[in-house]
Amino acid sequence: MLLRETESLQKQYEELAELDKKHFFHPSTSFKQQQADGPGFIFTEGKGIYLKDIRGREVIDSLSSLWNVNIGHGREELAVAAMEQMKKLAYSSTFATNSHEPVIRLAAKIAEMTPGDLNYTFFTCGGSESNDTAFKTARYYWKMKGYEKKTKIISRGKSYHGVSLGASPATELFPFRDFPGLSQEHLYVDSSIDALKELIEREGAETIAAIISEPVQGSGGVNLPPSEDFFKEVREICDQNDILFIADEVINGFYRTGTTFGIDNFGVVPDMLVFAKGVTSGYAPLGGVVFTDRLKEELTELTEGNFYHGYTYSGHNTACAVALKNLELIEQEKLNENVNQMGAELLKGFKYLEQTHDEIGNIRQIGLLGAIEIFKDRDTKTTFEEPLAPKVVEEALKHNMIGRAIIYEGQDTIAFAPPFCITKDEVEKMISIIDTSLTAVKKGL
Ligand code: PLP
Repeated sequence: MLLRETESLQKQYEELAELDKKHFFHPSTSFKQQQADGPGFIFTEGKGIYLKDIRGREVIDSLSSLWNVNIGHGREELAVAAMEQMKKLAYSSTFATNSHEPVIRLAAKIAEMTPGDLNYTFFTCGGSESNDTAFKTARYYWKMKGYEKKTKIISRGKSYHGVSLGASPATELFPFRDFPGLSQEHLYVDSSIDALKELIEREGAETIAAIISEPVQGSGGVNLPPSEDFFKEVREICDQNDILFIADEVINGFYRTGTTFGIDNFGVVPDMLVFAKGVTSGYAPLGGVVFTDRLKEELTELTEGNFYHGYTYSGHNTACAVALKNLELIEQEKLNENVNQMGAELLKGFKYLEQTHDEIGNIRQIGLLGAIEIFKDRDTKTTFEEPLAPKVVEEALKHNMIGRAIIYEGQDTIAFAPPFCITKDEVEKMISIIDTSLTAVKKGL
């Protein structure tokens, strides 16, 4: 790039950075860091696994942004799908009995993809709204059946279910619910069947509306369930105690774990399946809750008049059209199959890192969702006093890769969830950057 061009781009960056600091209240950000440093990147373009910023720098997006740009960046077909829908009808209401073709076709497509009799979808704009909807409907359902006290929601340790007033208390990761005024109707349980049974016994099944769980936890560190049968046992406990089981598939859903939904890995059908992110690969905001035929029939029977719950953008025409095209392309181009092939390459890379660095252990991978953990002593699982993952990620940025460190509750983890279009060479590049970055960080210890 010419010097004059670089200077001009830097000037544009600085102008926008000032405005950002003054006016843009960032989500999940340190106020102090934003005010001191301004925006790290001002992204302008993306292609495949790469993002480009206003100063012309290109970086690998190793987490598909927020575990959501599954198809990869820069897919023009999705822009065309949005444009065609917008030209015809960008938005129309779905309240009362109004409808439109994209929402009908998408609901039918999702019914085809989900396991068992999960066939009836309520649409939202994202994960938090979907979990709010699931909790509200679970409580409503029990109330209508005459069980007014069945209101508590159980979630698992290290879970993340969103940040709305309803979803924050279900998120076990403490920093997200350290706010005043959140409901106390939530209970947390370790990932153990005995602990779950004890909790239900202690609280009384007559006070519990639902259990929510991510099949494979994402933001809490990419954690697989403690055993193959864990969810089968959870399902049984739910059935025995009249508790609804909600699978939060916001990260897992739509092929991220190599199966259509995360829960498919464990042979279980939940009562409600919550989705968002991957349904549109982030090209438009959309989420939802899929209900079983059984719940649908009971809700219909139990409700006289309106069900007073709905968002202006429930079943947004353009977002639904984008989702349909996104799912069509993923299947047509067999990107869902690439998830398993590249998942295997990712695991190979993790094993290489484990062999090369004594500090790496507890590697895990399912589809294109994976993590490595850093230990001072991996045999005794002793961690460094100050976690290394953030430093490795900082170093990786110097090599043009945006990484994700997860350090809640003493973990020292680096998570990976690249776009489904990733190639073998690109997986190797990511692994090589982590290798180099960890070596550099260790030198500085
Ligand atoms: N549930 C899970 C498992 C998530 O990972 C997230 C977001 O990361 C949410 C819910 C919340 O979704 P949103 O940020 O779209 O509200």
